[in-house]
Amino acid sequence: MITFEHVSKQFEDGTLAVDDMNFSIEKGEFFVLIGPSGCGKTTSLKMMNRLIPLTEGTIFVDGKRISDYDINELRWNMGYVLQQIALFPHMTIEENISVVPELKQWSKGDIQSRVTELLQMVGLHPETYRYRYPHELSGGEQQRVGVIRALAADPDVILMDEPFSALDPISREKLQDDLIELRNQINKTIIFVTHDIEEAMKLGDRICLMQEGQMVQLGTPHELLTDPANDFVRQFVGGPE
Ligand code: ATP
Repeated sequence: MITFEHVSKQFEDGTLAVDDMNFSIEKGEFFVLIGPSGCGKTTSLKMMNRLIPLTEGTIFVDGKRISDYDINELRWNMGYVLQQIALFPHMTIEENISVVPELKQWSKGDIQSRVTELLQMVGLHPETYRYRYPHELSGGEQQRVGVIRALAADPDVILMDEPFSALDPISREKLQDDLIELRNQINKTIIFVTHDIEEAMKLGDRICLMQEGQMVQLGTPHELLTDPANDFVRQFVGGPE
């Protein structure tokens, strides 16, 4: 479980990006952070794995303050998928996927079978794709590798920051379906940032709608649709007037 207790982030220039956020994410939950550009979604996500330090408040992971974790233990346990595909260009797909398992000193054999399993999971033929370099893959294939790389060392939590934003609608829908399928297979906690309400409604168990650094409403897609907290939620979700 991940808990935000009075979490705020003010950047050096005075921008208050996150303003007193309080919520808990359950184990195995698909949790969506959504809101307009600049509302603090990415900042919230990056604070969870200590890429950005908090100004105030505390984040707990499984009851322990994130500041009390060894940084590697914390990060290896949280796969991170970025908006921009961030595969290492000089490494093959197999080498890209192997980075964290190698850091965790998995055996060569275990890593190889893990790479095979993961590539199969997202429909990329292992014996073709493991030896390719990122530039030899389409954008959608690279996104898929980005997702499975985050899963490689079997983390409990996966942080995803607009992972499908660069895709055309068809590839995007395919990857959303893959993610639902993956999620049913592996039952991880997934924290997913998007500004696309349709994507949020399709994927989320619960959705946290943010505005100007604050949480406006937290609830299931159905709750946001049928019982919006205010006009902003109603407009954002696009439910009945
Ligand atoms: P988007 O949907 O556009 O990606 P977001 O909701 O993820 O937006 P954040 O990236 O969390 O928003 O940014 C929240 C606010 O903090 C914005 O006003 C942004 O300009 C500001 N911000 C982000 N990073 C920094 C930084 N390093 N220094 C100063 N301000 C920052």
